[in-house]
Amino acid sequence: MNVLVLGPQGSGKGTQAKRICAAHGIPHVSTGDMFRAAISEGTDLGRQVEPILASGELVPDELTVALIRERLSRDDASRGFVLDGFPRNLLQAEELDQMLEAIGRPLDTVLFFDLDDETATVRALGRAHEEGRTDDTPEVMARRLAIYHEQTEPVIERYIAAGTLHTLAADRGVDDVFAEIEDALRQVAR
Ligand code: AMP
Repeated sequence: MNVLVLGPQGSGKGTQAKRICAAHGIPHVSTGDMFRAAISEGTDLGRQVEPILASGELVPDELTVALIRERLSRDDASRGFVLDGFPRNLLQAEELDQMLEAIGRPLDTVLFFDLDDETATVRALGRAHEEGRTDDTPEVMARRLAIYHEQTEPVIERYIAAGTLHTLAADRGVDDVFAEIEDALRQVAR
């Protein structure tokens, strides 16, 4: 099962991605988590991306695509994966298509977590506060949301056109959304 989750920050896609992974025994491949791990480990990559994450801008495509290429080529991804946070723009989406085609593993479904800006902002700021992510200021959140509209929304259009997109109303409880996801995954598994 190869699943992609798309949606703004605060839409619950990370939480649902983890649930799908636990239920299906497949890895959660999150570029944001990978960058944050690199920062806390103090690697070269971590040092490079730390100011970029703090600003809310996107890490250069070259670095991000290389990271994903390496991660998806590992053994544990051969039975499936949930990709979260990538692709963030059209170039990354094209790179992903090529990578998956090369290894013969197309996406089974793209889950789009649809949520209005206001709810997304309130939720994301609440979570940042809970998790002690003090660098997630309202200004950084606003920048992330603007980038999401400018650069990531065209990716959604692309998957709509490809017919692989399943839109979920993300302003509901976690269990409700997960039940709809499981239904959608059963359809594609057939
Ligand atoms: P996330 O946890 O997915 O919201 O990602 C946190 C931050 O990591 C983003 O604001 C970007 O700075 C960076 N990032 C994550 N994924 C990508 C990506 N696919 N391309 C570029 N930057 C990314």
